[in-house]
Amino acid sequence: MNLFAELESEVRSYCRSWPVVFDRAVGSQVFDENGRAYLDFFAGAGALNYGHNNPELKKALLAYLSRDGMTHGLDMHTAAKRELLTALRDRILTPRGLDYKIQFPGPTGTNAVESALKLARKVTGRESIVSFTNAFHGMTLGSLSVTGNSMKRGGAGIPLVHATPMPFDNFLDGKVPDFLWFERLLDDSGSGLNKPAAVIVETVQGEGGINVARPEWLRGLAELCQRRDMLLIVDDIQMGCGRTGPFFSFEVAGIRPDIVCLSKSIGGYGLPLALTLFRPELDVWEPGEHNGTFRGNNPAFVTATRALELFWSDDQLQTRTEAKGDVVREALTAIATAHPELGAEVRGRGLAWGLEFHDPSAAAKVATAAFERGLLIETAGTDSEVVKVMPALTITHDELTEGLSILADAVTAL
Ligand code: PLP
Repeated sequence: MNLFAELESEVRSYCRSWPVVFDRAVGSQVFDENGRAYLDFFAGAGALNYGHNNPELKKALLAYLSRDGMTHGLDMHTAAKRELLTALRDRILTPRGLDYKIQFPGPTGTNAVESALKLARKVTGRESIVSFTNAFHGMTLGSLSVTGNSMKRGGAGIPLVHATPMPFDNFLDGKVPDFLWFERLLDDSGSGLNKPAAVIVETVQGEGGINVARPEWLRGLAELCQRRDMLLIVDDIQMGCGRTGPFFSFEVAGIRPDIVCLSKSIGGYGLPLALTLFRPELDVWEPGEHNGTFRGNNPAFVTATRALELFWSDDQLQTRTEAKGDVVREALTAIATAHPELGAEVRGRGLAWGLEFHDPSAAAKVATAAFERGLLIETAGTDSEVVKVMPALTITHDELTEGLSILADAVTAL
């Protein structure tokens, strides 16, 4: 353990919550190097929706590697990329009536966000972007400028500009009509808000504490963007790929964003991959205007393609995710009811759930107690005040109920 503390930067974070050395992982089980098993309610912060080392995805990956398939491809045409584009078109976009061009912006989520912001600015010729309170969009400067968390923003060391936060759904406890403030600022030329190029939103804020936007709020936002000629960017990096049930989290609201950011589970296997999707008319990029060495992570194309074939040929995964979500909601509600003194609030959608306690320090204590009992579970929210329940979508019913009962024990121990 000392080697990590000695050699690895102080910036390391998750390992501080889970001070063991992990070695193997299968499905929803993770093993440390001493062979102790942990149940995974974290799923790589949303990068492992299909679990660890899914055997079908592994088979496709091993076959590709053993035939010396291209590993690194910049943005060259490769057979693996063609298969992924075809699968995205045939299994995801066409069945949903979505006509999007597909950009490979670089391997991580923040690359997709940066490219979306750049594109919106280029298309509209405007610089200002509207974001929402408690949003999280990544750690590079553009993404940080639309992120709420003050500690993360502080890490930039320079002013984060050209972005204006607006209240997310329910930020004002329902006391103010939706978008009243936003519309006032747009209407009043003395407001100080430059006309925005775009609005960027998460339908469920993951890192921000599992804050769930109502479908009607999302529809109101989409309508506002259209009426006011602002592009709508949905950051589906954490909540896409089935996390909330349907493939895209915005499907519940029946809206069509102008630009969509995907990453995390799009690679299927936990390999880095990100996509930026946008209406074809918005494709005003010059060749190479947004570039990056690792945009052609072909092994991730292979596992991404196989994941789309395996999980998105019908609506079974969605149905199962929603049913498992009901199990989680009931269990969390039972925990909250059993401990009225903790003032716990339960919220979520699909298989993304949060349990917020009246005392903000309680969530971290619960996560620690859960870890001691063999459950990996993280916290979310600006002050880490929410226990975040985010298992793989492929978790078995038994594993799900076992993890939920460990969680209940951890809360009782508190
Ligand atoms: N957007 C959202 C909604 C996220 O949850 C995250 C990461 O948690 C990002 C963007 C940034 O992704 P990455 O860490 O891969 O850059």
